[in-house]
Amino acid sequence: MSIIKGSRPNGTAAPHSSKIKVIVVGTGLAGLATAVECHRKGHSVTLLERHSEVPTNGDGIGISPNAARIIRKWGNGVVNKHLQDFASDIKHVHTWSHTGKYINPTSFDDFTGVKGYLIHRASLIRVMYEHAKFLGIDIQHDSSVTDYWETGQEAGVVVNGEKVVADCVICAEGIHSRGRSIITKSDFQEPQLDPIFSTFRGTLDTEALRQDPETRWAVESESETTRDVYKVWTTHGMHLSIFTAQRGNITVWYAAHKDKALMTKSELEMARQSPNIETAIGWIREWPLREKLEPILRKADNGRFIQAQISSYQPLKTWRSPLGRMMVIGDAAHPTPPASAQSGSQAIEDGAVVAIALELAGKNDVPLALEVTEKIRYPRATAVQEEGRSIQEDSFEKPEYEPEGRPEWMWDHDCQESTYREYELVAGAIRSGQNYIPTNCPALIV
Ligand SMILES: Cc1cc2nc3c(=O)[nH]c(=O)nc-3n(C[C@H](O)[C@H](O)[C@H](O)COP(=O)(O)OP(=O)(O)OC[C@H]3O[C@@H](n4cnc5c(N)ncnc54)[C@H](O)[C@@H]3O)c2cc1C
Repeated sequence: MSIIKGSRPNGTAAPHSSKIKVIVVGTGLAGLATAVECHRKGHSVTLLERHSEVPTNGDGIGISPNAARIIRKWGNGVVNKHLQDFASDIKHVHTWSHTGKYINPTSFDDFTGVKGYLIHRASLIRVMYEHAKFLGIDIQHDSSVTDYWETGQEAGVVVNGEKVVADCVICAEGIHSRGRSIITKSDFQEPQLDPIFSTFRGTLDTEALRQDPETRWAVESESETTRDVYKVWTTHGMHLSIFTAQRGNITVWYAAHKDKALMTKSELEMARQSPNIETAIGWIREWPLREKLEPILRKADNGRFIQAQISSYQPLKTWRSPLGRMMVIGDAAHPTPPASAQSGSQAIEDGAVVAIALELAGKNDVPLALEVTEKIRYPRATAVQEEGRSIQEDSFEKPEYEPEGRPEWMWDHDCQESTYREYELVAGAIRSGQNYIPTNCPALIV
């Protein structure tokens, strides 16, 4: 089917030309991608963030080709160029067992070079944020949204006691979203969840690692052509990894332990408030490699790492509000286990699809746009969640397994081209009450 309407996958509309006002809540990956993509498609955006500045903690995040292709269009490639300066430049992930036995090198092509990014989350957010500011998007900090509302004609939020009005609201509040239950009218604060494992994640002091003869080896590059490294040590139920980015100038670490997932609520709160490096070191106490790895963990940047419990979330019944002018996206809608490496990428796809659906629906059909978005995005994001759970399980149960190539439907998808192509089909199915069968994920999962 040919593309018949709109500014097309690579195109942009004149700023504010659609006359559609969009409130976006949260300056995470989902919120920033939505804000930029909505601006590119001619909508007027107000972006609200509760923090006074962009949060800079976190460890590394991978953006796969399906989402990187969206960002590469921003600023005619300038944003991509900027991100390449911050991203990790590696060819392989090297994996050892906890005894020190070398397991394998795994190609990491999909996350580097022209295809994707492996990057410190703070750097990625900062570059996306600066681009949103450059576009003139209205970004308001210290703006904690406390309520969401809608009528047949408009929708909005309450922030600092004041009502803000728009044509629709996109809630990208992240995994602990409060807006989710208000918007979807679900009777739970958080989706049903099972704890699956506990993690530490953050940065290490790169200079201290290099200066210390006991730890220098950890950040030494594998070859003369790449300055970054990615190293993993693994055993049944646990793994520890470090990688460098920004040409060896920043080092991030990540530890995951399956059996330490069942922390009590008070333990969890204590770990959240003051994560203790001794706990992470305790996880490798029995490892033959402990003496080699412990000095690395002792270089954890104070105050720049967290401990968290990762849970498995059931899909929500709906992402939309009853009158159809509000919607949750990103982690607020479909949190995905880290091993899938898709949480950020799926969040970015959400933003690109909703921006196009609004463009094609127009100001008079905003609820239709959000419904089309849900029909396109919900099955795919749910399928990714499902796939992510099994990748996560495998990573703990079969530590020596070599991951197969990422599924083509997930990795190679072009959600912008596909939304322009499918829009009329989806909208037609909604209008006529017919079933729409998505083409962006395996049919069986839908
Ligand atoms: C500080 C931080 C660090 C992270 N680090 C990593 C990492 O290192 N590796 C990784 O894989 N994933 C990390 N994540 C999660 C990752 O960013 C998400 O899984 C993914 O990118 C989807 O993002 P999101 O935009 O849906 O949610 P998030 O990235 O969680 O962003 C949500 C945003 O909404 C804001 N917000 C929430 N409630 C309100 C409200 N009521 N009013 C206004 N603003 C609100 C939050 O402050 C936040 O900026 C991190 C998330 C955060 C918030």
